[in-house]
Amino acid sequence: MNHFMRNKSIMIMCEQSGGRILPVTHELIFCASLIAGRYDSRVTAVLPGNIADTDSISGADLLVINSPGLAEYTCEGWEKAALLAAEQIMPDIIIIAHTSTGYDYAPRVAALLEGGCITSVAGIEFTPEGIRYRRSGFHGKLDLLYGAGKPPLVITVLPGAFPADDQQAEPGTVSYIEAAIDPVFTSNLQYMIPDQSNTELEHAEVIIAVGKGIGKIENLQMIRKMASCFNRSAIAGSRVACDNGWIEYNAQVGITGKKVAPLLYMACGISGSMQHIAGMKDSKTVVSINRDPDAAIFRHSDICIVEELEKFIPEFIREAEKHRA
Ligand SMILES: Cc1cc2nc3c(=O)[nH]c(=O)nc-3n(C[C@H](O)[C@H](O)[C@H](O)COP(=O)(O)OP(=O)(O)OC[C@H]3O[C@@H](n4cnc5c(N)ncnc54)[C@H](O)[C@@H]3O)c2cc1C
Repeated sequence: MNHFMRNKSIMIMCEQSGGRILPVTHELIFCASLIAGRYDSRVTAVLPGNIADTDSISGADLLVINSPGLAEYTCEGWEKAALLAAEQIMPDIIIIAHTSTGYDYAPRVAALLEGGCITSVAGIEFTPEGIRYRRSGFHGKLDLLYGAGKPPLVITVLPGAFPADDQQAEPGTVSYIEAAIDPVFTSNLQYMIPDQSNTELEHAEVIIAVGKGIGKIENLQMIRKMASCFNRSAIAGSRVACDNGWIEYNAQVGITGKKVAPLLYMACGISGSMQHIAGMKDSKTVVSINRDPDAAIFRHSDICIVEELEKFIPEFIREAEKHRA
């Protein structure tokens, strides 16, 4: 038996909010179960928090790391909880969700354990040489396969990449570690929950979505003009467009934004990351405008326009106005 075939100990970090285990955790358990099935592994899910009592979960043993300092997420607190759990579990592989908290602390855990870290994992494959981890690179244009060196390995798994485990699996054991984890370098000052309602977007027949490719907020003017060429239209954005303050977060399309299914979706300067596609893939017709002929969005488009936005959109508006007249 080569060393890749020996049993592997797998540790999952639960994604939680206020002590409640979030559904993405079951996707991590599914991912772990694929490896566990192959390598006859033990799977332990670690739940950091300040939790008096919790139910068992299916498909994994649950280890609760309890400390008043873990009442809410901090990078430092979660990193220390993961290290404490790793001391006990001695994992070969640590699986963390690729969420805004997961990818915050995962690389620190890997560095402190002197292990490798593969982020944004969207799939796994088994080869005679060991496990291969698939992720996309170069804005979704390439599929990349990574192998790991000596354990431990930390991977962050994209939400939605694996189905949730079937809740029929045997429930595992529950154990607790009472710890005194006190983050000293970080604390949360305020949470702001953005207004998520946007009926305009939900009822639009035509959505013009803008990405980083529009370059500057001033270019929104031509996008608004383009939207006005259609009845029942609305403007949306990729996460980058929202992070840049060009578009409100309640008009973000994607895995952490809105899921939309208009008759026409026009993607302007959007590369086509998996997280964006998850929000618009049910659109009836997709037209994409991108200067890069290899942009991943073209794989999900009915009409592909390889052009500079600044050139194509004014031309489009001129033609549309002529047509309307
Ligand atoms: C946990 C997590 C959740 C996420 N959730 C979401 C989500 O819900 N929604 C989302 O959208 N993203 C989400 N993301 C981010 C996502 O991974 C990508 O970073 C993002 O979608 C990229 O946005 P973009 O396409 O606007 O920018 P980029 O990827 O930078 O693409 C810009 C594109 O514009 C083109 N371009 C540039 N200039 C021009 C021009 N003048 N004319 C024409 N084309 C031009 C470029 O060729 C490029 O293809 C998430 C990421 C993570 C880690």
